[in-house]
This record gives sequence, C-alpha cells and structure tokens, in this order.
Amino acid sequence: MLLISPVRTHRFRILFRSLYRSLSEELGLAPHSRAVLNDNGLYTGSADLHWNNSFDSQYPGLAAPVTRGVTPKGVAGTARNIAVVLHSTRTAQPLTPMNPDGTRTDTPGSTESAPVDSSSNAGTQAARSPHKALVFDGHNDVLTKLMGAGGVKTAEAFLSDTDFHIDMPKAARGNLAGGFFAMWVASPAGHDYQAMMKQAQYDVPLPDPVPHDDALAVVLAQAAILLRLQDIGAVRICTSVDELDKCLGSDRLAAILHLEGCEAIDPDFHALDVLYAAGLRSVGLVWSRPTRYAAGVPFRYPSSPDIGAGLTDQGIALVRRCNDLGIMIDLSHLNLAGFNDVARYSRHPLVATHSNAHAICPHARNLTDAQLEAIRASGGMVGLNFASAFLRDDGRMITDVPVVQMIRHLDYLIEALGESGVGLGSDFDGARIPDVIADSAGLPVLVQAMQEHGYGDALISRICHRNWLDLLNRTWHAKSAG
Ligand SMILES: [Zn+2]
Repeated sequence: MLLISPVRTHRFRILFRSLYRSLSEELGLAPHSRAVLNDNGLYTGSADLHWNNSFDSQYPGLAAPVTRGVTPKGVAGTARNIAVVLHSTRTAQPLTPMNPDGTRTDTPGSTESAPVDSSSNAGTQAARSPHKALVFDGHNDVLTKLMGAGGVKTAEAFLSDTDFHIDMPKAARGNLAGGFFAMWVASPAGHDYQAMMKQAQYDVPLPDPVPHDDALAVVLAQAAILLRLQDIGAVRICTSVDELDKCLGSDRLAAILHLEGCEAIDPDFHALDVLYAAGLRSVGLVWSRPTRYAAGVPFRYPSSPDIGAGLTDQGIALVRRCNDLGIMIDLSHLNLAGFNDVARYSRHPLVATHSNAHAICPHARNLTDAQLEAIRASGGMVGLNFASAFLRDDGRMITDVPVVQMIRHLDYLIEALGESGVGLGSDFDGARIPDVIADSAGLPVLVQAMQEHGYGDALISRICHRNWLDLLNRTWHAKSAG
C-alpha cells in the first residue's frame, strides 16, 4: 500500500470528491453512493459497483475488499489509483495499472485487457468519447468566476461540482483536456452588456478605461488562482507545445495563461516580462474597451467591426515586444483598424481565439470575409465562439440555439480558412452559451453534431485540439526568429 503523508492525504481528499463523481457515472454506481477517504489515504466506498475479477488482479489497490464500516460490495483503493482509472476513461484508452513506484504500465497502441466488463457497463461505454474528440479550447473565463467565488483561498472548488461552465468533473465528462485561461478585468461601472444584447438591435457603449493599478491587482489575483490550480493538481501551465501534447494525455487540464486586455501592462512592459516568467504566452491587446494600446470593438448589432482608430505607437511597440517574446497575439475584441495594424506589424500568424463568421451573424465582434482572408493568408486560425449572440443570425443573446447553428459557422470558417484554420473558442464562463451545450460537459453534443454532419475523424481531431497545437508550434517558435 502507498504511504501517504497527512498533507497529501488532505489533498487527495479534496481531489477525490470530484473524481469520485465521475467514476460513479462511468461505472454506474447508484446515485446515493458515498465515498470516504480515510486517514491512511484509503478510499472506501459503499457503492454497489459493477465489479469483475480482472479488477482484482490488475488493480490490487483498487479492488481490495472493504472490511470496515461499509457494505460487502464496496471497494477500496488509493485516490491515486482511482485517478488513473478516471484518466483512462476520459481518454477512452485501456485502463492502466499503476506500478508501485507510481509509473504507468501502459504501452502505446495497446487495446487489450481493458478490465471494465462491457456487458455490465453498456450505458457508460456509449457515453465515452473517442480520443479524437479531446478538446483543447481557445478561450475560457473560469479564472474570473473563481475570483468572484473567493479567489485563491477557495480555488479548490474547481475540483468539485460547481455552477461554473468548467470544473474538473464537467471537464472529465466533456472530454475537455485544456485551453486558454483568460485573465480579465471587469469594468467598475460597466453596462450589463449581456442583458442589453438580448434586444433585436443594440449598441452597447464602450466602458471607460480601467486604471493600470486596478487592472494589475486583478490580473495578479487571477494568475495566482491558476498557479493554485496547478499546485492542487488540476492544471499544468504549459509554455511549449511539447508540454501541451504531453498534458493532453494526462489527468490534468493543459492550461495556457492568457491576458484578455492589456490595461495591466505598463508601457515599459515590466509587467509583461514578469507575467511571461509566470507562464503568460497569449495576449489580447484589448477587451471591448479602450486602452493605451488599441481600441476594442463595441458589442453592436448589426454592425461592421470598422469602429474607431487603430493601434497607438505604444500598441505597435507591444505587438513587436510580443513577437520578440514569442507570445501569441489574440485579435478577438479588436476593432477593424487595430486588426489591420496587427496584420501589418506582427510577424506571427493572425489569430482570433473566440470569434465567429460575420457573414452569418453580422455582429461587430465577428470576423468579416476580408478579415478571414487575412487570417488565412497569414497561416492563422479562428476559434468558434459559443456565445449565443455571436452564433445566431439575429445577434440576440438568447440561448435557444440549435447545435446545427454552430455547425453552420464551422462550415463557413472551414471554407474560408481551410481545415487547418479552425478550432474551438468556447467562451465558457464568459458568455451565455446555447442550452444544447450548457457547459463543458456538453462538448460531446457538438462533436456528435460534427460526426452527423459528415466531418471525418481527422477533421474533428483538428478542430477539437490539433489545430491549436499546430498554430502554437508556428507561433511560439517564432521567438527564435527574433
Ligand atoms: Zn472575450
């Protein structure tokens, strides 16, 4: 048996609550099942589990019969073993025994000896998504949600069920394997733009600029939350494609630290350098708000994105600085003049992490055909935004949106950008998304719609994660180009 220190036991206890819920669903435990992690780090469950003999031999830690205080059909094991099982089910790979030293015994390509008895798990087998559908997502705002819920002190809530779009249990159910985690600063006296966008037409005024000091405090708080999520084993902050690739096959979410709006960046770029050292690898010059660097595009429908001036001299300097550091520049929320300036001055592929097709939904936040053409010419890409207002033809932030509407945007973007130019950029925890998806656990609904629409495995794999990795490979490597 593994010896687990009290500190690690405590960490496992927290982690375990969320993992157990996912395991319960995978293995078909009764809804009233309970899980307890005792002081030795030993999991005991009182569930009526669909168990079979192969578990006993392959997972001795897991399958040891429970002898104390639980029903005879319960199971016992370390949280570590349980985590391996959950990882394996999330990626639809064979369940992998853990060696005593903590390494795994899996061999790539092996498809035999999956110990779950499929006859007793028919319902859960169908719920699993194939590896090709692992999602690496272009944009989420869960750090803002976690800050509002108490910040670093309560970040462990992410390990359990929450009312956020993303938490560990939902990510496991939805095959969400990682994404860009945005740091974002709310406007102190901002409009309720999401409510205003329910109207048939709207023109939400741009909020006032946010002072640098105020923004920096928020950004540091959100970066600290992501560091905390890494400490408790939920994410790994990735700064290379190699790390991303490895992390996609692990039980942690692969996280890219992203800054959505540069109010926190001083013109000497000291904050940029420090955040870079903390893992920052993606920057949007603006949110929909003016900064010293550029002008954001307002939430306006119907409207062209051609509103306001382009980059300032400091904005051009920031683009060059990001190029030098190998930081990806995100064009979502930038107005047309700013977009064109980045296209002129940046050496990197052009990227809009969470924007849709203006030809389908003529919202100022969406990309016109000319913008898509510029992105294509640069070898860049676009992540499909799930925000209802940017999907619907009528531009209204109403969540009654059929999944086929998301496919329409994907079709259009693929036609405009090619199959290597399209990914997902959900805006989870930052927008009102279609009821049919609801949260990150609903991602398989979109994947299934892609399959039914005729997208092949290779294209689905590209859209779901591969294109983001390839794009970052082209972008982050650009640092060495100086
Ligand atoms: Zn955004």
